[in-house]
Amino acid sequence: MANKSKFQAIKGTRDLLPPETALWNHVEQTAHEVFRTFGFGEIRVPIFEPTELFARSIGEDTDVVGKEMYTFSDRPAPTEGEANGSESSLATRHSPLATSISLRPEATASVCRAYIEHSMQQLPQPVKLYYTGPMFRRERPQKGRYRQFYQIGAEVLGGQDAPAIDAELIEMLMTFFDKLELKGIELDINSIGHNAPNCRPAYVELLRAELTKVKDKLGADSQRRIDTNPLRVLDSKLESEQPIIAKLPHIADHLCPECAAHYAAVKQQLQLRGIIYRENWRLVRGLDYYMRTTFEITAPGLGSQNAVCGGGRYDGLVELLGGPPTKGIGFAIGEDRLILSLQEQARQSEADPERAARAASANSPPATRHSPLLIYIAWMGQNTYATAVRAAKDLRNAGFSVELPPSELKFGKALGQADKLGAKFALILGEDEVTEGLWTLKTLDDGAQIKLPEPALIEHLRKSS
Ligand code: ATP
Ligand code: MG
Repeated sequence: MANKSKFQAIKGTRDLLPPETALWNHVEQTAHEVFRTFGFGEIRVPIFEPTELFARSIGEDTDVVGKEMYTFSDRPAPTEGEANGSESSLATRHSPLATSISLRPEATASVCRAYIEHSMQQLPQPVKLYYTGPMFRRERPQKGRYRQFYQIGAEVLGGQDAPAIDAELIEMLMTFFDKLELKGIELDINSIGHNAPNCRPAYVELLRAELTKVKDKLGADSQRRIDTNPLRVLDSKLESEQPIIAKLPHIADHLCPECAAHYAAVKQQLQLRGIIYRENWRLVRGLDYYMRTTFEITAPGLGSQNAVCGGGRYDGLVELLGGPPTKGIGFAIGEDRLILSLQEQARQSEADPERAARAASANSPPATRHSPLLIYIAWMGQNTYATAVRAAKDLRNAGFSVELPPSELKFGKALGQADKLGAKFALILGEDEVTEGLWTLKTLDDGAQIKLPEPALIEHLRKSS
């Protein structure tokens, strides 16, 4: 018997449907526009890469690489016989020659790989790139956390680590959120120093010593991190650990003079740009390659998954991947969370009439706007169909959204259909209209009807939209 069980999207993945996808497009369009004004160009990198690329850059000990990647072995390249069409045996398909590949859990490593692969160090520096697209991490799905999620990210790669680069990148982010009219976001910044004996490693040792003293008061995760990555203990949200963490030494007091100066200059550059930030000494990024400037942006309406953007400096990553010494800084926005936050904001302003009026204005994002002007063509009589097709083509060319029923409907049924679709107008084309050359336009809200010659129709619709 045929298996009739229904298919469902895999856990942690989901379909994005209209009308919500209009908001996704609006967000991405805003990114394209804002990032262009800061001189960024778009890069599109593959969805999968050699596992080794992520293992080396993100770090084998991180949750992302250790537990969360979708990794599988690719078939080895076909031998000549197979390429000519003969069947490959199971043995060759699963041979040890197969390479391990992974779905990308983030895109910074890929952008750095592309920078090296295309010798971008020969271009005018810094190279400023941005991307949008899906990422994959096998995490526990919950609100704002998915196994396929979307990021909008940007990277600045080149010879310099001037603090103005860090500040301008953050300025671009704030401009982006501002253009989306997302309210209530907060920017946290920190510096986590660099990997030299007089800087972060010394602090990490100090942290390890302090944590060891209170080990039995910590949870299992933090106990383990004393050995593997003490910095990550600062990230802990466990209630019982908060008073202990509050007493730990701050990295700002243990930065080497160069990192301390860089951090001070970044803050000054942010002030120069009028950017409000909060220093958060506990802000350490989850991925291994970060150094010096780190930042995070949180947004309201998201519960505990409230980080909508994480970023930081990663000088040395390009070199680690086999490229020339290169400085780098970037961020990644969680687009799913950003959309959730915008929707939450729209829901709240609907409850507040004054804000709702403002939100309905033409500039506001589609989440809060009414559906686009739709014209339904109610045609009757087979002889009118050719005219209806021509009318639909002309109206669409003029930018209107048009629904043309594929088969003839009775007048009442056609208008009912127009109503259900939320059309603003019905263009009525019967035998009389077509012979007289005078078309009937009905406003569905109030039932008002006017007659118009064909050439006047588009102008009239433009005026009334
Ligand atoms: P978190 O602490 O929330 O797990 P992270 O430190 O793992 O975040 P990054 O790797 O810095 O996140 O990615 C940048 C942004 O991508 C995050 O701030 C978040 O908005 C988003 N993000 C990360 N993982 C997910 C996920 N599984 N689902 C949805 N969005 C995500
Ligand atoms: Mg995470």
